Amino acid sequence: MSKVAFLGLGAMGARMAANLVRAGHAVTVWNRSPAAAADLAALGATAGASPRAAAAGADFVIAMVADDTASRAVWLDDKTGALAGMGKDAIAVECSTVSPAWATQLAAAVTATGAGFLEAPVVGSLPQAQDGKLIVLAGGERDAFDRAQPVLAPLAAAVRHVGPVGRGAVMKLAVNGLLGIQLAAWAEMMGFLGRAGFDGTAALDVLTTLPVASPAAAGYARMMQAGDFAVRFPVNLMAKDFRYATQAADALKADTPVADAALSVLERAREAGHGAENVSALIRLYTGG
Ligand code: NAP
Repeated sequence: MSKVAFLGLGAMGARMAANLVRAGHAVTVWNRSPAAAADLAALGATAGASPRAAAAGADFVIAMVADDTASRAVWLDDKTGALAGMGKDAIAVECSTVSPAWATQLAAAVTATGAGFLEAPVVGSLPQAQDGKLIVLAGGERDAFDRAQPVLAPLAAAVRHVGPVGRGAVMKLAVNGLLGIQLAAWAEMMGFLGRAGFDGTAALDVLTTLPVASPAAAGYARMMQAGDFAVRFPVNLMAKDFRYATQAADALKADTPVADAALSVLERAREAGHGAENVSALIRLYTGG
């Protein structure tokens, strides 16, 4: 069993950290808003005063925070950042969905100190995080990947090595690109069917049985129809992922007209006040609900 520092106890991170505690690791947690650490402490974790303090003496330091800005703050802040507290034998594991450019910069900063680095963004949402059934898309050196298995296994149904640092972020953004494009399309078509007079539930009873309906899209379409906007994965985080995806694509001169269109739909939803709602709230652009 390892000493693990876990930084970021939001919707995903709190569930992931709990699974590491349950697996028997000695876990020190930190969250920007300290209240979240109290629940983990009740499960047996220790609360650290800062990322730096939590990382001191840890074998693995894992972060699960919102975005590049949050990731930079928890790892690299001069005074409180985890990197300043990590030993050379430790491995930094970035699980947040960040941009490939930032994952690469962070890896360089970590490895310059002699510590190891692995990017490990995850596929799956709150139920999978809760049940330890995420899919990890890891990027980094094979050695860091192999050494991190004991702390990734309690989080995941599968841990996939997809290439060097940066590839994990790209593949994760491609996964969310595929999901977000489908959800934008389903919301739009459900709005179209509604305008044409269809009962939404009856229409979905047909559409979700057809080969065009992926299991993920069908599940979200049911949430859209039910008006279920309880937050699991909010519009704001999906929009962030599309910004990172389209910026990375631009840098590669990859043409992404459909992702660009989906991003504009997500931005419209944010402007309409739905940013903090579940991404199922895209339907509200078409129903006015
Ligand atoms: P969340 O509930 O909004 O939690 C975000 C976390 O980031 C919180 O711990 C928050 O701290 C922290 N944070 C934000 N800005 C910060 C800053 N400047 N400095 C330090 N900490 C900061 O989000 P989540 O759903 O757990 O998602 C976390 C990551 O996983 C994101 O990258 C997301 O894209 C990715 N992801 C999410 C899902 C999903 O279904 N939700 C699935 C796969 C991947 P406070 O508590 O203090 O605000």
